[in-house]
Amino acid sequence: MLGLHEVMLRREVELTGLSEAEVKAKLTLSLEIMKRATERGLTADIKSVSGLIGGDAKKVREHSERTKSVCGSLMSRAISRAMAVLEVNAAMGKIVAAPTAGSSGVVPGVLLTVAEEFALDDAALIKGLLTAGAVGFIITRNATVSGAEGGCQAETGSAAAMAAAAVVEMMGGSPPAALHAAAICLQNVLGLVCDPIAGLVEVPCEHRNALGAANALISAEMALAGVASIIPFDEVVEAMYRVGHSLPCELRETALGGLAGTPTGQRIKKVLF
Ligand code: SF4
Repeated sequence: MLGLHEVMLRREVELTGLSEAEVKAKLTLSLEIMKRATERGLTADIKSVSGLIGGDAKKVREHSERTKSVCGSLMSRAISRAMAVLEVNAAMGKIVAAPTAGSSGVVPGVLLTVAEEFALDDAALIKGLLTAGAVGFIITRNATVSGAEGGCQAETGSAAAMAAAAVVEMMGGSPPAALHAAAICLQNVLGLVCDPIAGLVEVPCEHRNALGAANALISAEMALAGVASIIPFDEVVEAMYRVGHSLPCELRETALGGLAGTPTGQRIKKVLF
């Protein structure tokens, strides 16, 4: 059985006319941008343009290096990397939108940390990016990855599904197991609303990326252990789409409801604009 990453590579070659090596070279560039963003977010003093976020990724990393982390080292490193990328994004830095800017921390946070933990090389990471791309592509064709259209379940949920499937294939799991991981990820956040404070992709977005990273690792762990999603991936994607369209517009990136609609959220908006 072909892996999702192999199918995705063949698709890219067929549709773009590029060779396998050229497709992989493009992914290597994306990988480098991901590495630089996580590095910058964890080492530089970053503040978003609004001043709402910046510096928390470093706090999480330093805490886990200083003391025994509640989540464990692997999870903590993945979370801090995911947060780091969101901080770089909010500070107008360069990131890879995988699948969107608002969810850009999840895939690098998870993949780079798993590679670090298991001493996997860039070839394994490229394989992971292909798997992640395959899952993201399926979701965009059958549902959406847009918070404005489907809530945060569509944005950070899809990123988590992509990362979870990637981890499964990077760790030698089967394509069905990768799709179980993706399905578990999405079902874990069905209904998650998009409610960015003041309409900025900062709060709660940075924390949602950390949640996405954790969700991806948890789901990959279960799938690699043989746990299956009772509802098949394709049906979970359809359910996610339907749930997204059922959400009132206040909970889909309009910054009118959810956390954005709280007295504090509204007060911050007035101060900023
Ligand atoms: S809350 Fe909305 S803007 Fe923020 S990450 Fe989620 S989908 Fe994106």
